[in-house]
Amino acid sequence: MSNIVTKVAVVGSGISGAVCASTLARNGVSVTLFESARGPGGRMSQRREIAEDGKELLFDHGAPFFSISNTDVLKLLHEWELKGLVAEWKENFGSFDCLSNKFLDIDQEGLGKRYVGVPGMNSICKSLCNETGVESKFGIGVGRLDWLDSENSWLVMGMDGQNHGSFKGVVASDKNIFSTRFKDVTGCPPPLDLSLAPELAMKLQDIPVNPCFAVMLAFTEPLSSIPVKGFTFKNSEVLSWGHCDSSKPGRSTTSERWVLHSTAKYARDLIAQTGLQKPSTATLTKVAEELLEEFERTGLHGSQPFFKKLIDGQGSAFPAASVAEEEKCFWDGKKRLAICGDFCVSPNVEGAILSGLAAAAKFIEAPSCL
Ligand SMILES: Cc1cc2nc3c(=O)[nH]c(=O)nc-3n(C[C@H](O)[C@H](O)[C@H](O)COP(=O)(O)OP(=O)(O)OC[C@H]3O[C@@H](n4cnc5c(N)ncnc54)[C@H](O)[C@@H]3O)c2cc1C
Repeated sequence: MSNIVTKVAVVGSGISGAVCASTLARNGVSVTLFESARGPGGRMSQRREIAEDGKELLFDHGAPFFSISNTDVLKLLHEWELKGLVAEWKENFGSFDCLSNKFLDIDQEGLGKRYVGVPGMNSICKSLCNETGVESKFGIGVGRLDWLDSENSWLVMGMDGQNHGSFKGVVASDKNIFSTRFKDVTGCPPPLDLSLAPELAMKLQDIPVNPCFAVMLAFTEPLSSIPVKGFTFKNSEVLSWGHCDSSKPGRSTTSERWVLHSTAKYARDLIAQTGLQKPSTATLTKVAEELLEEFERTGLHGSQPFFKKLIDGQGSAFPAASVAEEEKCFWDGKKRLAICGDFCVSPNVEGAILSGLAAAAKFIEAPSCL
């Protein structure tokens, strides 16, 4: 007896997968979303840490904010603003030049509006994953996506070998689901064997990535020597960006929390020494100290963080190529397989949203395919 259900499996709850899942559900397609992490958001996650004194500390360790220009995405943004999931981050931003040790370009308006999720960057994905018609399963890493010719459907298997059922269609919203990099990190073959979609395989091989390490810091007192709440580093080999997470709307201000991002070069050099596997605790501590040392050039005047932690696992933080700028996603109509994510359009939240919308449209434009 067939156990096929009229469902689409979406793999990944980052913004591309979450937007795709909710768009499908709003158009009458029932969706099961699988996410290997404990919660939604992917690179728009919020991280919860506990300080030594038991204090809860929350950090947006991936995307610090996003900007939007596309009209379709602006419509979604307004909807999220009305629901209180998103707010504009109105602060001073600028840059710090490590040659002159000075802050430059301080302005109130910036280049465009900067938006953040409220109360955390993950709020949008959280809400989309809870929409009617989306069944979200967290803590389930998809280990295999098998095409069953006899049933004309996909079989979804967990990393632990558990059968999660058959689906009429699949959306893969992370390049690691099909890239050879998956094997370098886990030792296992990637969940999706691209030979099942030979027309897509050529275009999807070896998408280059830029890595990034992030360090989370918490201070008891505000860092009053820093005149901005977010800034890029100029002429630094170590840091590319720093922001005061607790200055965003809707965040607790009981401590001042900062997140620093390394340059891609710094992260790449480190990965060349340690490999893609999780670095040792000693390496993580050393890197956190190096990033903090560079941050101190901004004139912290002896303020020491009471909490400091490096986040590893950002080996593929930013795709370094956009592989489907026109189509915005990949689609195999015969097997009802969509592949989406920021790597298709542009390495940012807006690009990921556009790709998720495009993937959903492929199923919706051909309803008979389900
Ligand atoms: C440090 C950093 C800074 C950034 N700064 C900015 C910025 O300033 N502005 C901006 O717009 N963007 C920024 N970005 C980029 C932005 O975060 C991403 O472009 C966007 O969030 C990507 O969304 P996505 O859905 O394509 O992928 P992801 O968010 O990576 O989602 C993919 C999801 O799939 C899940 N997954 C993968 N494999 C499996 C599996 N086998 N089974 C189940 N689940 C699986 C992953 O756990 C993940 O949750 C930044 C990113 C980083 C890391």
